[in-house]
Amino acid sequence: MMKISGHDRLNRLTVLDGRLRIAGRHADELLAMAGGGPCYVYDREAIAARVAAWRAVMPGALKLHYAIKANPLPAVVCCLAGQVDGLDVASLGELQLALSSGASPCDISFAGPAKTEPELRAAVAAGVTVNVESERELARIARIADAAGVRARVALRVNPDFALKSSGMKMGGGPQPFGIDAECVPALLARCDAECLAFAGFHIYCGSQNLSAEALIEAHNQTFELARSLAEAAQLPVLEVNIGGGLGIPYFPGERELPLGPVADNLDRLIAGRAAALQDTRFVMELGRYLVGEAGYYLCRVVDIKVSRGRKYLLTDGGLHQHLSNSGNFGQVLRKNYPVVLADKLAAQKLETVDICGPLCTPLDILAAGMSLPTAEIGDPVVVLQSGAYGASASPQAFLGHPPPCELLL
Ligand SMILES: *Cc1c(COP(=O)(O)O)cnc(C)c1O
Repeated sequence: MMKISGHDRLNRLTVLDGRLRIAGRHADELLAMAGGGPCYVYDREAIAARVAAWRAVMPGALKLHYAIKANPLPAVVCCLAGQVDGLDVASLGELQLALSSGASPCDISFAGPAKTEPELRAAVAAGVTVNVESERELARIARIADAAGVRARVALRVNPDFALKSSGMKMGGGPQPFGIDAECVPALLARCDAECLAFAGFHIYCGSQNLSAEALIEAHNQTFELARSLAEAAQLPVLEVNIGGGLGIPYFPGERELPLGPVADNLDRLIAGRAAALQDTRFVMELGRYLVGEAGYYLCRVVDIKVSRGRKYLLTDGGLHQHLSNSGNFGQVLRKNYPVVLADKLAAQKLETVDICGPLCTPLDILAAGMSLPTAEIGDPVVVLQSGAYGASASPQAFLGHPPPCELLL
């Protein structure tokens, strides 16, 4: 297997005569199809393969949801809507996208703090499950449903009293803006009995971007234990427990792919041995980046090359305004390089150390720092791998007034 800048794992890349092919096409063709400028390309076969790989090992009883915020491109959402068991949304815009994708409202859930009145009205009107984030939000939903003369389906989002260890982003445990503290949930359950509410169950999410099977197994054990105690406190049937997601993908040198087998085996055991109060419960895992992250690529071109006091710079038309997370400014503490390649020079033997920087007037606009790459020429296509999640939609595209990147699902 070819080694690229310390990234010893080239994910399903086809390399022919030293040239990278994505969805069967060279970078030049893809950039031409995009109209010349920087673009994101997502490979639908890679997305489907990812879903299939998850299903092949996970317990058949475990449902799979796609968390739209990882990649909200309508084509990607529609592509995944036909393959997963439900969609998770976190805004009115995402809700509308999910509804338009053909997903059934009963398979859509809406989480997120500070949902506004119009968002709650839309959710109730559409008949999706609202993952309730606070006592006040529950009261608001009840009032809206009561006034509309309908029953609103609600799940309580629980802020657990544990965290998912060694996660890229912790979103549970300790004080959190997300969810209702686990110890406060029993008191709220009595209110879910109201005429205008249909209680669905619990949403327990504790973190993201985790590559440790051990940490995930520990969190799942704790999640099932918490779900048991909450289900026993509930006077109502618990139809569904969303156990969160958190499965990560390797971005940086030295990171290894998460082994899914042990996580799946443990979930199998937990579901088979679930408590009596959870016998009729449907379990759901919600994933974003795990489904789309490795299926996406960011492409741009070398516009200028220069040496400044002994340091060589490749300057590109793509940058952090279109790919913030690659620049290291989206939640990373220390900047590390994503896997970046010169798409048409993969067979080159001679390497040199370069920095790749984008077109923005800020020292933050770094695509790669101190990376060992073949000697580049003006016009060479540069490709950032692992770019299918938290790319275009998680970037400050208006910064400096460059046009937005084209996005293609092929
Ligand atoms: C962001 C988020 C996800 C998706 O996280 P990934 O790391 O992309 O899998 C899932 N669920 C909730 C509640 C989230 O906030």
